[in-house]
Amino acid sequence: MKIVAVLYPGGERATNNPDLLGCAENALGLKDFLEKSGHELVVLTDQEYELDKHLPTADVVITTPFWPAYITKERLTKAQKLRLILTAGVGSDHIDLASAAAHDITVAEITGSNVVSVAEQVVMHILALVRNYIPAYKQVLDGKWDIAEIAANAHDLEGKTVGVIGTGRIGQRVCTRLKGFDINLLYYNNFRLSTVEEFVLGIRYTPLEELIEKSDIITINTPLTPETDGMFNRDLLFRMKKGAYLVNTARGKIIDTKALVEALEKGHLAGYAGDVWFPEPAPRNHPWRNMPNHGMVHHYSGTTLEAQKRYADGIKNCLVKFLNGHAIERDYLIVDNGKVVSPSYSYAFKK
Ligand code: NAD
Repeated sequence: MKIVAVLYPGGERATNNPDLLGCAENALGLKDFLEKSGHELVVLTDQEYELDKHLPTADVVITTPFWPAYITKERLTKAQKLRLILTAGVGSDHIDLASAAAHDITVAEITGSNVVSVAEQVVMHILALVRNYIPAYKQVLDGKWDIAEIAANAHDLEGKTVGVIGTGRIGQRVCTRLKGFDINLLYYNNFRLSTVEEFVLGIRYTPLEELIEKSDIITINTPLTPETDGMFNRDLLFRMKKGAYLVNTARGKIIDTKALVEALEKGHLAGYAGDVWFPEPAPRNHPWRNMPNHGMVHHYSGTTLEAQKRYADGIKNCLVKFLNGHAIERDYLIVDNGKVVSPSYSYAFKK
C-alpha cells in the first residue's frame, strides 16, 4: 500500500535527534517498519502541490494539526484509492469530516496522546498573562529596569475566577492543575459532567453567557466543529469582563480574527495567548502577530518530545491494525462506516 505522510520540516534539528519523531525527516519512526513490510512510504512537507500529486494514488494519508494539510472536499474527490486518514495528534478539523464520511474514508486520531502537554501549556499561558511575564522578560532583553511599568499590570492568580470552556480530556486536566491556585473555577461544556466529577475537579457548571461575563480568565478547550467555528465572535468577546484574559490552545478558527484584534486594541481584553492560528502556518502578516498584549507562539503545545513519542506509537498501532485488516481502536475513530462517530464531533455534525 502507499502511505503518504505530510509532516513539518525538521531541518538540521532532525539530524542526530531521532526523538524529534513528528518531523518529516524522522517520519514518526515509520520508515523501517513500513519498508520491511513491503509498503511504500512517501513523506512530504509540502501541503499543497506535492500532496495533490500523490493523493490520487494514496491508500493512507497521515497528517498532523501542527503542520496541517487541509484535506478539503475537492481533495477528497481526487483521492480515489484513499481508505484511511490518520491525524498524528489530536484534532482532525483540518479534514472535511462530512466529505470523508460521504466517501466512506475512515478518519482516526491519537486520542489522549498530547492532552497533558496541552494542559500544561494552558497553565503556562494563564500565568504568563496574569503575572505580566512577557513584557517583564522583554524589558530584561532590552536593558531596561522599570519595575513600576511591569508591576502596574501584574496580578496574583489566587482568588480569580477562571472559566473553562470544554471539559473533555484537556479541559479536565487544566482544572486539576489549576485547583491548587485557590481560584474560583467555572466550566461550560456541551453536556454537564456528573456531580462526582464536578466535586473532584472543584468546578461549577455555568451557562456560557454567565461564564463569559463572570470570568477574569477564560480558557478554550473544545474541538473546532461547525458549532464552535467563530463561536468567539465580536459580541462574545466584548461581553467578557473588561480587563479579562483569554487563552486558546484549541483552534484559531474558534475566534473571530479581526474582532480579537479590536478587543485588544481597545483595551477591552487585557491579554490573549495560545498556540493555534488560522491558517497555519500563520502568514507573516497575520494580524495576531502584532496585536497588543499577546503571548502567541507557534502551534507546538501538543508536540513536545513526550507527546511525539505517544502519537508516533499510536500511529504505528493504527497502521499495524489497518494493514492487517483489524479494527482501529474505537477511542481513536473520528469517522467510521460513513459516519462521524467521535463523541467530540458527532453532536455538532448531527445538528
Ligand atoms: P475531548 O473530546 O476530550 O474534549 C472536548 C470537550 O469539548 C468535550 O467535553 C466536548 O463535549 C466539548 N465540546 C464539544 N463541542 C462543544 C461546544 N460547542 N461547547 C462546549 N463544549 C463542547 O478533546 P481534547 O482531547 O480535550 O481536545 C480538545 C481540542 O483541543 C481538540 O479537538 C483540538 O482542537 C485541541 N488540541 C490542541 C492541541 C495543541 O497542540 N494546541 C493539542 C491537542 C488538542
